Amino acid sequence: MKDFTTYFTMTEQDVIEYVQKKLDIFEQNAELECREIGDGNLNYVFRVVDQNSGQSVIIKQAGPVARISDAFKVSPDRNRIESEALKLQGELAPGFVPKVYSYDPIMNCCVMDDLSDHEIMRTALLKHKKFPLFADHITTFLVNTLLLTSDAVIDHKEKKALVQKFTNPELCEITEDLVYTEPFYDCEQNDVFPETREFIREEIWNDSKLALETAKLKFDFMTKAQSLLHGDLHTGSIFIKEDSTKIIDPEFAFYGPAGFDIGNVIANLFFAYVNASFTIEDQETKEDYLQYIQQTISDVIELFTKKFLHAWDENIKERTASAPSFKEWYLNSILEDASAAAGLELCRRIIGIAHVKDITSIENKESRALAEKICLTAGKTFILERANIRTGDDFVNVLLQSVRKFIEGEKFYDSSKSHSIRTTG
Ligand code: ADP
Ligand code: MG
Repeated sequence: MKDFTTYFTMTEQDVIEYVQKKLDIFEQNAELECREIGDGNLNYVFRVVDQNSGQSVIIKQAGPVARISDAFKVSPDRNRIESEALKLQGELAPGFVPKVYSYDPIMNCCVMDDLSDHEIMRTALLKHKKFPLFADHITTFLVNTLLLTSDAVIDHKEKKALVQKFTNPELCEITEDLVYTEPFYDCEQNDVFPETREFIREEIWNDSKLALETAKLKFDFMTKAQSLLHGDLHTGSIFIKEDSTKIIDPEFAFYGPAGFDIGNVIANLFFAYVNASFTIEDQETKEDYLQYIQQTISDVIELFTKKFLHAWDENIKERTASAPSFKEWYLNSILEDASAAAGLELCRRIIGIAHVKDITSIENKESRALAEKICLTAGKTFILERANIRTGDDFVNVLLQSVRKFIEGEKFYDSSKSHSIRTTG
């Protein structure tokens, strides 16, 4: 029997032994079964179930190299970052992340709640499911994790200790390259859909203003240690069901600009919108679904704003932060960064190496090219116009204007209905 005192990447059988030897979670007579269910590129996710009781847990282990290529090395220390981030987020935003039972710094694995009764949000949105509580849930998570880890609220020495703990150079480098750098020039590693290449060259690569603005944003990302970010908050990192939202996979967590997480949520809702636009055939069903996504985008911004201002009044400790108009200035800068981050995500998922299924699953080539151009147009607007994009309506208008630029008439739902906000109260 292995003793797990030296790191190695585990098989399903190893994980069963690990559970028996190292964890005190299952009954003595448990009949354990284990399956690797990960779909990612870097990590192994094992589901262990006791056949007798039905009880189950997830064990996530960080591998030393990417599963696609041994040449691509990333330190397994990211599993420490993920475990610590989940623990802290669980304290700040109870109920919105899986509970972590243990973290093992030798095997680089952690044990957490099994969320198999939830569905990955991207998959659910591609089936055109609706989650009316999502905007309310995600904004509570965002406000609590972003504001309550900032200098406005916590002791500055404590915050600096957190900055140290969550210094994450390797995963930050991935973001710096894949999000902030490669998409904005004709980089060999980009993966461009041939039908969109000319458009990208003209609109993105040949635009010197965009090069300047993305450079500024990259330096913000590297230097603005404002809040503890999730760092990769796309709809594939969200587990969801009707009455519950759980945010997983914070291995990219680090101290960065708060707007980054918000912008990623918005951009990924945008991808779902564009997917629905091109894949739902029945006009009434389509309009209804587009209206739902549009409303959700608006609600995320409006509810974030409302809850942020409220939480600010309740929680700030930093004396200077109560200066008149400071909180509005601070919130404005977060929303500006959110707009920029939405724009970067919209561009990089089209041009860069990591695509989203929302777009790649659009089979018709012409439709896919149109979908990509819509995303790029919106992305560029979110980046260049970020100083003027503040409200839910502002974010939705970028979406609608980008759609209208390429599609006319009733093929699309583009009414500018007023946006009422849904909350659970
Ligand atoms: P990676 O970091 O490799 O992307 P993720 O944390 O995103 O890994 O997990 C990969 C997949 O494993 C998820 O898409 C989901 O299907 C499954 N998974 C991850 N965590 C859990 C969990 N706590 N409960 C159930 N399934 C999970
Ligand atoms: Mg993942």
